[in-house]
Amino acid sequence: MLQLRERRLISGVALLSSLVIAPHVSAINVVIDYTYDTGNFFGSGNPQGATAGAEARATMEFAADFFSDILADSFTAIETPPTFYSQTFDGSVSWSWNLNFSNPYDNSTVTLYDQVIPEDEYRVYVGARNIPGSTIGFGGPGGWGWSSTPSGGFTQSEISQIEQISDDFAASIERGETSGFANWGGAVTFDTTAGWHYDHTTLPGFNESDFLTTVIHELAHAFGFGVSTEWNSWVSGGYFTGPKSVAENGGIVPVVGGHWASSVNSVVLGTTTPQEANLQATSLRGTRQLLTAIDAASLEDIGWEIQVPIAYAEADFDTDGDVDASDLATLEAWYGPYTNGDADDDGDTDGADYLIWQQQYTGTITPLVAEVPEPTTLSLVGFFVCLGLHRRR
Ligand SMILES: [Zn+2]
Repeated sequence: MLQLRERRLISGVALLSSLVIAPHVSAINVVIDYTYDTGNFFGSGNPQGATAGAEARATMEFAADFFSDILADSFTAIETPPTFYSQTFDGSVSWSWNLNFSNPYDNSTVTLYDQVIPEDEYRVYVGARNIPGSTIGFGGPGGWGWSSTPSGGFTQSEISQIEQISDDFAASIERGETSGFANWGGAVTFDTTAGWHYDHTTLPGFNESDFLTTVIHELAHAFGFGVSTEWNSWVSGGYFTGPKSVAENGGIVPVVGGHWASSVNSVVLGTTTPQEANLQATSLRGTRQLLTAIDAASLEDIGWEIQVPIAYAEADFDTDGDVDASDLATLEAWYGPYTNGDADDDGDTDGADYLIWQQQYTGTITPLVAEVPEPTTLSLVGFFVCLGLHRRR
């Protein structure tokens, strides 16, 4: 949940678009599902007009892409197994699972049965309604349950097969992860009357609520921040004690409910730009808060693998973390109307780009991508409550 603060602050902000994401093998694919955007907030039904609606959607997708790039987990697909029939007796077993979440349009509970969630997909249902008071967004992971329905008789061998299918099915709903947070996805709701600044490519004006800030914030809740069993397991005496977060913060991190305390500051993830943490309970009008290092560290603590985005130097053409002879070789090989050595982003590779290479030359080979360790082991067993919904087994 994110609320607005009325106090105003002038501070430096960075745009996410300045970051280049290092390539990696596999990652989560955050898929935004607009099925329950009943009022077409992300389109022609937006109270600020169709253009605003399109901007809201572009910002939603931009943030989803950002998280898709930094969340490096591999999730198994969820798919209901076909009905099992005994070859010897009259027995059969059918399976079913359901996912549930709070309908963003009217806060009713939506339950969907036997959805297919592809490998690595994390599905987030989004929509909007007029949320009373100063709250401008809600987000959280969804709930789920599964069942098997046997009837008739089986051989002992078939019973073993059935148990294996059930075990595999249950494990798939946990996305193949044996520890840490994992889920099929979640849901996010936005206020229709927050006075939004929708465009993620420009900064909010005086007294506008920054939509990108809120999208990042609510998606983080959908990934379990502040609302999951795994989050709660690290909270003690008003502090978050997850090791990644403690290391990033230089000590245990004060929390208020499912958020950082308002004193928690960090740097924009992948940069050295100071910024207050995005995942505080409130956001100042007229300002933008991108995801910070402490926000990302907490996602690691609850079980996500995070690949930190890296801001490469303009002349680091091979994006290996330095500006050296190999980059000069690229520049020389593509001298002319090509963009491979285009440090100044003017559409060619020429002397001006060579000057930038000279200025940025480091000559060192320093790997910037640190190994990301596996998340700390945590039990997944238990219930969690989010937006009034329960994860069931
Ligand atoms: Zn929140």
